[in-house]
Amino acid sequence: MSSKVKELQLAGPVNHAPSRGTLFVVSSPSGGGKGTIIRHVLDVVDNLSYSVSFTTRAPRQTEVDGREYFFVNRETFDEMVGAGEFLEWACVHGNFYGTSKKQIMDETATGADIILEVDVQGAASVRQLLMDSVSIFILPPSYEVLRQRLIARGTDSPQELEVRLRNAPEELEQYSAFDYVILNDEVDRASAQLASIIYAERARCMRQEPLVREVINKFKSNQLQIDRPKEQR
Ligand code: 5GP
Repeated sequence: MSSKVKELQLAGPVNHAPSRGTLFVVSSPSGGGKGTIIRHVLDVVDNLSYSVSFTTRAPRQTEVDGREYFFVNRETFDEMVGAGEFLEWACVHGNFYGTSKKQIMDETATGADIILEVDVQGAASVRQLLMDSVSIFILPPSYEVLRQRLIARGTDSPQELEVRLRNAPEELEQYSAFDYVILNDEVDRASAQLASIIYAERARCMRQEPLVREVINKFKSNQLQIDRPKEQR
């Protein structure tokens, strides 16, 4: 666990779960480093889970079905689209990806927050559907860094690499539609920033309404009891 994120965890507020969890939608161009940042944050922020998408892309060597993605063929994916099983879905760099509606509903119903790692089209769809979701764009510091990261990852064929790099500038232009932008020039700092956003969003009045009402009502009934003359208590 990185030290800066650890510090933040210690300093982080102890929040009670709100009645319904919040969706944190994280996007970046492929190779932008969102996966690493999200892993750091999942390690340290409590009551937070990760939405495992469905994809028609073939699994990479290190990927496990049900962990990074649920890997399905095109036929199954199309059936799921037809059955309305996706909150959103999109064709990204030539493969299909979709967010499971059920997983999101089940997780958030328990009061847990959930991170969705989706492309810019997916983020736009979720923003439209769920107005109280929070969207975060991870900005790679330069073209060269993005290119080097994709090469170092070693998971894409030269053709796939080219498509991902070619699509990146257009994806970057979408940043202004997001609620937050994090420059990923340093992974510890960027992870700490994402954790801070989650903590800050949890502290919003609207997200804490039931808890705050409970505290205020208890406060008032306590006050009444204490202020009443002894013989009337
Ligand atoms: P990769 O093939 O590198 O795992 O992912 C390619 C792109 O698809 C990434 O930008 C990733 O965030 C995005 N992606 C992953 N899951 C989903 C999803 O469920 N919906 C959408 N719209 N994009 C996704």
